[in-house]
Amino acid sequence: MASSFHAGQAPSGEVPQPVRNGAGATDPGPRNIERDRQNPHLLLPPVTDHGSVPNLKFSFSDTHNRVHEGGWAREVTQRELPVATTLAGVTMRLTRGGVRELHWHKASEWAYMLYGRARITAVDQEGRNFVDDVSVGDLWFFPAGIPHSIQGLEEDGAEFLLVFDDGDFSENETFSIADWFAHAPRDVLAKNFGVSEADLAGIPSSERYIFQGTVPGPLEADRVVSPKGEVPSAFSYRLLAQSPIRTPGGGVRIADATNFPITTTACALVEIEPGGLRELHWHTTTDEWQYYIEGKGRMTVFANSGRARTFDYQAGDVGYVPFAMGHYIENTGEGPLRFLELFKHSRFADISLNQWMALTPPQLVRDHLHLPERVVARLRQEKWPVVR
Ligand code: MN
Ligand code: MN
Repeated sequence: MASSFHAGQAPSGEVPQPVRNGAGATDPGPRNIERDRQNPHLLLPPVTDHGSVPNLKFSFSDTHNRVHEGGWAREVTQRELPVATTLAGVTMRLTRGGVRELHWHKASEWAYMLYGRARITAVDQEGRNFVDDVSVGDLWFFPAGIPHSIQGLEEDGAEFLLVFDDGDFSENETFSIADWFAHAPRDVLAKNFGVSEADLAGIPSSERYIFQGTVPGPLEADRVVSPKGEVPSAFSYRLLAQSPIRTPGGGVRIADATNFPITTTACALVEIEPGGLRELHWHTTTDEWQYYIEGKGRMTVFANSGRARTFDYQAGDVGYVPFAMGHYIENTGEGPLRFLELFKHSRFADISLNQWMALTPPQLVRDHLHLPERVVARLRQEKWPVVR
């Protein structure tokens, strides 16, 4: 039993209490025990936590869900998680044939397929087009302003994560084709398309956003040949087709502009075995936006000047690490932990604490930290795995 739960977590069946080594006291309530069980390190933080660090967690389960015939969508933006200024996220479900309306927006759109299959379409500023079918583990990226659509395919449509490179973005404020038709004078539309106003009698009176459409046929039959050809750099990328960088505690797949040239959002898909650790590190580029796909983990963020705060995460949570702050992610569950690290930057870049120490003159490191010589020597023998 003792080995089946992580430090700070009460054994299943026991009510977790904020009591540690004679400090604290039980919480007689009112309380939400289910939430306390999900956040054991908020209820009872490690003694190393200290000072004020902003909230770095928000669950999609705490968001408004926009429900339509054909699917639903919910979002975690800067309004839900104020610290998250660089990126905002949406999880969206489309039924078989369900359509996310033809639209565009000011932010770029990065996506990861979580479930099922979908067909994506886009046209660029040179009149070149793109149509592709995506399934679990595939990414797509639409640069800002590029018009696009998404449609769920056989057998059961799709669910996916969308990430926009503006924390203040809202998926409820996109430029939608039916919305524009509804708000352009009919005579102007007739003139623009060279048709009669009677031909436009059936157009919708408002945005459609998500609606139940006709299930499309095979991909090849759905292609439209543009005289300008297809987009020169694919808008989709098969992340799971990439061999992960395997390490003792897990593995990682990275997609950034080096292997997915169109993207300006870099990603790492990290898998950590039970008990494994995404090593202590930080990033040299920008903030990190996380989405937890599977399992349970904890992260402590070191914010300098004695400040540190620990959070617990599980599937469906968004995590956030402000620029340059040190952090780790530890698998605290009994199964694998899988999550995405996302950066508003074309390249993935991080600094390993271990590697930094190993590549610095050892006496200097020992003088700082009072470490035995064998500890510093051990660092130099490592391959500095991302996950240990
Ligand atoms: Mn979009
Ligand atoms: Mn990181």
